[in-house]
Amino acid sequence: MLKPGRTIGILGGGQLGRMMAMGAAQLGYRCIGYAPEGDNVAAQVSTDFFTNKWNDAAALAAFAAKCDAVTWEFENVPLTTVDAIPRDRLFPPRRALEVAQDRMNEKRFVEDLGGRCAPWRPIDSRADIEAAAQRIGTPGIIKTRREGYDGKGQWRIGSERDIESLPAISDSAIYEGLVRFQAEFSVILVRSREGEVRFWDSTRNEHKDGILDRSLLPAGEPVERQVDSARALARKVADKLGYVGVLTLEFFATSEGPVFNEMAPRVHNSGHWTIEGATTSQFENHVRAVAGLPLGNTTTVGKTVEMTNIIGKNANAAYELLAGGEAHLHLYGKKQAREGRKMGHVTRLGA
Ligand code: AMP
Repeated sequence: MLKPGRTIGILGGGQLGRMMAMGAAQLGYRCIGYAPEGDNVAAQVSTDFFTNKWNDAAALAAFAAKCDAVTWEFENVPLTTVDAIPRDRLFPPRRALEVAQDRMNEKRFVEDLGGRCAPWRPIDSRADIEAAAQRIGTPGIIKTRREGYDGKGQWRIGSERDIESLPAISDSAIYEGLVRFQAEFSVILVRSREGEVRFWDSTRNEHKDGILDRSLLPAGEPVERQVDSARALARKVADKLGYVGVLTLEFFATSEGPVFNEMAPRVHNSGHWTIEGATTSQFENHVRAVAGLPLGNTTTVGKTVEMTNIIGKNANAAYELLAGGEAHLHLYGKKQAREGRKMGHVTRLGA
């Protein structure tokens, strides 16, 4: 267990790290961030921040020497970076990052544990795409295996004719059949160092242009009916990885049950509502798990929850949301509002 005043290192410097550092501060810990040059908004609320390349061995050694435990808020931290951190101080474990950084590994891992994915095939060439589209059928989606997020690194294939006009895809990718889902939802859990697992309520997640727009509770049918089976899979994933911290699995609710989409070995945008909407937020419980503290209760507070992301230029009018006094506004302190960029979120709880 980390004593009060000890230091938690966070790899990555975005809004997730920012909210994590705020959760850690509440518990009396200090946070030191590490990320390459960029708009590292976590630095604004951290005790110290290393702005260095992921492969800067000297900087990583200096960072590791200052930290009593290290975690990440960004799932594309290179494995070679993580290897600079002593294993017994790293939570979640390295393997979680290794699995989640590659869509193919991730799907295989989940399928091996009995989870169901959309039909998919790895692709490395145009001929592979044609063969996959023929075998799985259209419509479908091409997704790069690595580094895709918020719909980036994805191309929709409406029919086989679309394949001719595709840009050259230089990275390894997968072709995946389009799922006709009734709703999207995520399972967010926290697992302690001792293996205790707690779940937050699963919100219904609505996306716009591949980016999360709103997370809602009650999630309604059919999410509520499918949550138990999705949770059982998420628990298996967490146990298999010997996971410590917050883990997120995203699902499609379909007429045949939950279909696994992807996992994030970290706190998640669809869990931001837990800051005010649950007894213990995902950020605080992640810190508790990493620090070896007892986990907090994950019960939802209030009857309804609505979390809405503030994207791009909408942030300029964010303070207008404060009228009425009920909105919990979070702005991430980003310098520039670009199209599709997550600038903040607002949570409203119903009595
Ligand atoms: P992803 O980056 O894989 O989470 O995809 C972003 C969003 O695109 C998802 O949340 C869905 O709304 C949509 N999407 C991704 N894959 C599929 C699929 N196979 N079928 C239908 N919609 C999908």
